[in-house]
Amino acid sequence: MSQKLTLALSKGRIFEETLPLLKAAGIEVTEDPETSRKLILPTNDPLVNVIIVRASDVPTYVQYGAADFGVAGKDVLLEHGGEGLYQPIDLEIAKCRMSVAVSAGFDYASAIRQGARLRVATKYLLTAREHFAAKGMHVDLIKLYGSMELAPLVGLADAIVDLVSTGGTLRANNLVEVEHIMDISSRLVVNQAALKLKRERLQPILDAFEKASIK
Ligand code: ATP
Ligand code: MG
Repeated sequence: MSQKLTLALSKGRIFEETLPLLKAAGIEVTEDPETSRKLILPTNDPLVNVIIVRASDVPTYVQYGAADFGVAGKDVLLEHGGEGLYQPIDLEIAKCRMSVAVSAGFDYASAIRQGARLRVATKYLLTAREHFAAKGMHVDLIKLYGSMELAPLVGLADAIVDLVSTGGTLRANNLVEVEHIMDISSRLVVNQAALKLKRERLQPILDAFEKASIK
């Protein structure tokens, strides 16, 4: 029986790092999202399409079944909540960490000791709220959608919660990492209904992904 499958990916590092896994499953994307304007990309398998969406929208497309499966960072999944999603595999790609960072001149430790109420800018409201609540810290969270590194430099916030990999962006902006909140990697997410209805098509791909992501 022929069943169409739609995979949701975001451009950039997740797309790039998912390609080898797809290849292991015999799937090759035949257009490059960086140069193509198409949002639905064909593959060598006429029954498999890749849709290109914002990283933070991947769980939503999969939750509602507009995509059967997708790849999303743990950062994005924690904010989404994971409702309607089956999360079988940590693909161990797009690895980074979620951290608290402040301006190099800001004494974070003593601000905490004094019980100061800090302003923290982040895209990750839920994760940040949970982190500071667990530490018993009172913070005012400011929601941003990008370029968090700017916030402490212009006095919008005392601290940021953001993703760090090499630390290059922090250094370039005279910021220092003061707390490591958690390690982040990307997971495969599967629509729960699709997993039941399209199991025959999906399972071999999930198996190939799992095998290719261990090494
Ligand atoms: P959008 O473009 O929708 O605003 P975004 O800018 O957060 O989202 P990307 O920067 O492409 O999207 O990141 C997508 C995912 O890649 C993140 O959700 C995270 O899991 C991972 N990621 C982000 N930054 C890094 C990094 N510095 N190193 C490794 N992985 C990262
Ligand atoms: Mg981006």
